[in-house]
Amino acid sequence: MNTADFRRAGHELIDWVADYLDNAEQYPVLPDMQPGDLVARLPERAPEQAEPIQSVWQDFLELVLPAVTHWNHPRFFAYFPANHSGPSILAELLSAALGVNGMVWQSCPAATELEQVVMGWLAKLLDLPADFTGVIQDTASTATLCALLCARESTTGFAFNQSGPQATADAGPLVVYASSEAHSSVTKGAKIAGFGAANVNLVAVDADRSLDPDDLASRIQADRAAGKVPCCVCATVGTTSSTAIDPLGRIGTLTQREGLWLHVDAALAGSAAIVPEMRWILDGIELADSFVFNPHKWLLTNFDCSAYYTRHPQILTRTFSILPEYLKTAHDQQAVNFRDWGIPLGRRFRALKLWFVLRHYGAEGLRTLIREHLALAQDFAAWVDGSDDFERLAPVPLQTICFRYNPDKGQATPRSEEAINQLNQTLLEAVNRTGQVFMTHTSLEGRFCLRLSIGQASTRARHVEQAKAVLLAQRPK
Ligand SMILES: *Cc1c(COP(=O)(O)O)cnc(C)c1O
Repeated sequence: MNTADFRRAGHELIDWVADYLDNAEQYPVLPDMQPGDLVARLPERAPEQAEPIQSVWQDFLELVLPAVTHWNHPRFFAYFPANHSGPSILAELLSAALGVNGMVWQSCPAATELEQVVMGWLAKLLDLPADFTGVIQDTASTATLCALLCARESTTGFAFNQSGPQATADAGPLVVYASSEAHSSVTKGAKIAGFGAANVNLVAVDADRSLDPDDLASRIQADRAAGKVPCCVCATVGTTSSTAIDPLGRIGTLTQREGLWLHVDAALAGSAAIVPEMRWILDGIELADSFVFNPHKWLLTNFDCSAYYTRHPQILTRTFSILPEYLKTAHDQQAVNFRDWGIPLGRRFRALKLWFVLRHYGAEGLRTLIREHLALAQDFAAWVDGSDDFERLAPVPLQTICFRYNPDKGQATPRSEEAINQLNQTLLEAVNRTGQVFMTHTSLEGRFCLRLSIGQASTRARHVEQAKAVLLAQRPK
């Protein structure tokens, strides 16, 4: 592609993106299609002959776009938010244009040093302990895997890295603890890191679904008595199902006493800590060994961008470092080589979008956004509480409301839980079929539960009002 064609296509594309941002609301949130529909409409082979970019673009509009779930739709209330913003999109374009690989300092000093700077800024915005050092990972799942690997190596004196699983065979299996509400990435990471899914010990939760530290203490004791080696606790701030917040202070006191690694997964909720009145969610973080949160979820920075912090960078780098001859540089003594701070060698220039976002919105702009979403969630929760036939199933400390339709609310002879579950499943399907809103569900103590997760960059009060209207209109008869 010559630059004249690039310029023309690029201008058109930016115009289209701006229109898309203005009009995202016009699209159905969920595409109306079945698995395999898009594959069936595309050729089986790549073209032999060159095609003009216009025909690729035409097919994007006609074939690909209708198969897109619009995460940036203001009425996307599913899963968890995935923010983006003008400055973030622009910086991603720049990053693609530069095409750098920030694997070592020399391979792009700007990528390394800007990453150090913005991770420092973020740490101060969240009021993290001064000895936390940050690195950007692709996702929270990867960050949690890194934490598990560091915990494993720190517990085994780096013997597992050296000798493989035999290193710990005599000492008994290493055990990872997390609450029964923790994210699936903990078990996935434990499988990949060689702990084995059977050695993930799921701790009971309290009534608010936060990890019960007394149960944790007794499980650690029981495991030691059984000849196992307690290694790591993964605490969650803002669980995926219901945004429950594990008590970091009590957990951290325990992990320090027992000599266990404490990793804190605040993938969604961490961003809320930039608001001083919400900083309490991280109380006790000073007792943690590592911490992750996703600016790509709730801080206007598009996917992917996960902020990982550790107070033991030397353990992290000793766990991951490799030094083949072809990667040695004259700066290895003075500079940080982020290649040694995670799993992949190659690294995208993700710091650029964080830098654009933090500067363009400023801390105050980001706090305003978070506060707005928190307030919308409280309003919706109050609406549920005051409704005749919707009821809330979990506290709302953050931006997600877990609730359900219950036409027998407050009545003496309610129908069976099973029947209520069925009603709610029907309601969710009907709601999502409208294309007006997209919500997902979870299960809390066997109760099928609707989740309204508020946090898209463009979501405002009127969109939450529309969600209420759709819910009311779609109630099963
Ligand atoms: C979203 C989420 C994850 C997974 O995040 P990825 O970045 O997609 O890996 C993990 N833990 C919690 C608590 C989450 O909310």
